Amino acid sequence: MKFSEVAGQDLIKEQLRNSIRNQKLSHSLLFIGPEGYGGLALALALAQYINCEQKENNDSCGLCSSCKKFKKLIHPDVHFSFPTVTDPKGKPSVSTSFYKEWRNALDENVYLNYYDWLQKITKESKQGNITVTECHAIIKNLSLKSFEGGYKIQIIWYADLLGNNGNALLKIIEEPPEKTLFVFIAKNKDHILNTILSRSQQFQLSPVSSEAMQSALTQNYGVEENEAARIATMANGDFATAIRLSKKDDNDHEEEFIKWMRMCFELNPIELYKWTNNIGSNGREYIKDFLHYANRMIRECVIFNQQAQKINSLSDSELAFVEKFAQFIMDDKAYRLYHLMSKTHYYVERNANLKIIFFNLSLQIHKLLKQA
Ligand SMILES: [Zn+2]
Repeated sequence: MKFSEVAGQDLIKEQLRNSIRNQKLSHSLLFIGPEGYGGLALALALAQYINCEQKENNDSCGLCSSCKKFKKLIHPDVHFSFPTVTDPKGKPSVSTSFYKEWRNALDENVYLNYYDWLQKITKESKQGNITVTECHAIIKNLSLKSFEGGYKIQIIWYADLLGNNGNALLKIIEEPPEKTLFVFIAKNKDHILNTILSRSQQFQLSPVSSEAMQSALTQNYGVEENEAARIATMANGDFATAIRLSKKDDNDHEEEFIKWMRMCFELNPIELYKWTNNIGSNGREYIKDFLHYANRMIRECVIFNQQAQKINSLSDSELAFVEKFAQFIMDDKAYRLYHLMSKTHYYVERNANLKIIFFNLSLQIHKLLKQA
């Protein structure tokens, strides 16, 4: 992955390149921010840049033998650690046992989300973990000589789950072997041990700007310009959301959403039960998109209610719906509805039962719509 393929984060890219040029790069870095801000993508681009044999000023070449190995994620001097689940025999798990799934997942999407990752490695609802056995494997790997003479790079994704096991790494972070680089990627700084924080150079990632999203979507994902602008507005700084939206067609969401709101309003339990069973049988990805769409429509109603129709970005049929529906979610009702949808999104990510969630949610929406 090249720097140019990472959406936004221009400031951090420049800081990293400068540190490398001036040989001031710390041997332990920490990228902080939600998955959709691109910490993992940035770590991959940085690792590729450092070991590239024909660096251009601002980016790796993408063509040398080192870059080619990076592209396939098979460079022998780059090691990945990430959350895994215990195997059925109860043996403590290590990341290398999941490298095949990891490469496939990254090949599909480097803006990988933790819960999507878990679903790729287990069918049960388990919590992932970076084990102490994994930490010992890291120490062993890094004490070996570099295979290709360049930097040995250890990328630790979702270091939030390292917890106290990270203590095992303190000595090697404090006194790393020559030409060794740690890149920790975490969603939340508060989850990282102070002792790791104090030994690492920290980079707080920012939401991806709308312009950066648009250009990444058109250049790297083949999205048409108008569509890219629309998606960038909806994705709200999170590029993982943007990618997901770019793959979906909103039309079926529109029909489904309008039908749902009508049912919540009328509350025919049998009809509602059938509908929730039906929507609940879709995959989690579909549901997350659907909820995004729902929240977008609620935002549009708020804008409509404030008489700011001009900035509405609605199709004709959506506008016809908003004209009728917006009056039912005046004032703080829209906010409460938005909050209900967002809370549901949270549960959907955490493997809750979709049919039950949607049935309960529909009852709450009914109550809210009918309130004077
Ligand atoms: Zn190269």
